[in-house]
Amino acid sequence: MYNVNSFRAEEFISDEEIRETLEYADKNCDNMELVDAIIEKARQRKGLNHREASVLLACQNEEKIKEIYVLANQIKNDFYGNRIVIFAPLYLSNYCVNGCLYCPYHLKNKHIARKKLTQEEIVREVTALQDMGHKRLAIEAGEDPVNNPIEYILESIQTIYGIQHKNGAIRRVNVNIAATTVENYRKLHDAGIGTYILFQETYHKESYERLHPTGPKHDYAYHTEAMDRAMAGGIDDVGLGVLFGLELYRYEFAGLLMHAEHLEAVHGVGPHTISVPRVKPADDINPDDFDNGISDDIFAKICALIRISVPYTGMIISTRESQELRERVLPLGVSQISGASRTSVGGYAQPSQDNSTSEQFDVSDKRSLDEVINWLIRLGFVPSFCTACYREGRTGDRFMTLCKNMQILNCCHPNALMTLKEYMEDYASEDTKRLGMELIARELEKIPNPKVKERAAQNIREIEHGVRDFRF
Ligand code: SAM
Repeated sequence: MYNVNSFRAEEFISDEEIRETLEYADKNCDNMELVDAIIEKARQRKGLNHREASVLLACQNEEKIKEIYVLANQIKNDFYGNRIVIFAPLYLSNYCVNGCLYCPYHLKNKHIARKKLTQEEIVREVTALQDMGHKRLAIEAGEDPVNNPIEYILESIQTIYGIQHKNGAIRRVNVNIAATTVENYRKLHDAGIGTYILFQETYHKESYERLHPTGPKHDYAYHTEAMDRAMAGGIDDVGLGVLFGLELYRYEFAGLLMHAEHLEAVHGVGPHTISVPRVKPADDINPDDFDNGISDDIFAKICALIRISVPYTGMIISTRESQELRERVLPLGVSQISGASRTSVGGYAQPSQDNSTSEQFDVSDKRSLDEVINWLIRLGFVPSFCTACYREGRTGDRFMTLCKNMQILNCCHPNALMTLKEYMEDYASEDTKRLGMELIARELEKIPNPKVKERAAQNIREIEHGVRDFRF
């Protein structure tokens, strides 16, 4: 039944294989010889399969867990350096015809304010985001073929890319909309999107069907096979994720890695990113109604294990998580975070109004973008607004090759520093600017190729004189 190369959801995410994996993990989690061998394999930076990673997830030995954390940190630094890419979600519309039990946008919710941005309102939202310094967005919309057809999404993307305001520019639009057809994915590809993101929510078919009782999202196979259709439509950067809290985390973790293995096996490229959202309070949603919530300790362990299992995949932590929790998991391999997010429709342009009635969920980290940037720098990270890769055609396996050859320091690192310099010039507070300038001077020294280093330093000087958008 288990066939990683099959295009059928129930074969590449085989329930039987997951159950056997969990049994195998239970049997072997105290087998320290095996645990050591798996950690040793991860040390070779070639990743782990779902069985191996599941053994480590089941292992409770404190020392081994510490070893995994140290390794996750090393692997993150080897492949990505100390950069953290910054983005913000942009909610276009909360009209939705689905019945997802964990989401307040579900059709039966009659008291949530339904909103859909007009193109003029999108201009206002994006201008507000540009004024903070954002360059990379993830657009979000409920599933509603009448209110949010693909034409609306495409028009919105075109509007977003077209907005030039002072030195602002949105250079990468990632898209998080419901599973759709190959034809529609091709249209999104042609519109120049970055990553197509779709959370699986849960890999457990029965639970999936119970949690999505009505609407097109009820179809487990259609949802689970969406990334294959996205890739058939030409999108080669796709982002996976599960909503932790809905099902047993060990089941989800194995399913998530099997999905990544499937994409790599049949398309030659694994997921570009993995997100690890947890169910949060929302309008008519109480996370306590879900039995499978995970502790911060388990959450941290999952992050570290994703990092060592799929070393070339970016990992995203959103503002669903608090500053404290984000600080805890950043060293475990996170590569992207959102900042200053609003999960309401229209929440950036009118922050003073009460948007809570159209919010998708409560955010825990409510700091401004400048506070987030300042905090990252103080923690020793390089906040990056870089969006160069897909604009230079480095998507899918071309990005992975760069990553695997550890060329990131000659490419992503200078790009990160140049975009940080843009942020310093155009948006930073005095204190953040001072810290940022010191950081840029120090970090330039890390670029191994002398020619690249010299060119980056030259570009950074020119940014002071108003030139923008240098990239390697
Ligand atoms: N409608 C699209 C879909 O079906 O995939 C777009 C996704 S929705 C705007 C973004 C994600 O938010 C969902 O995939 C879900 O995982 C997450 N989400 C929904 N309700 C949530 C809640 N109460 N707490 C945390 N995340 C939630």
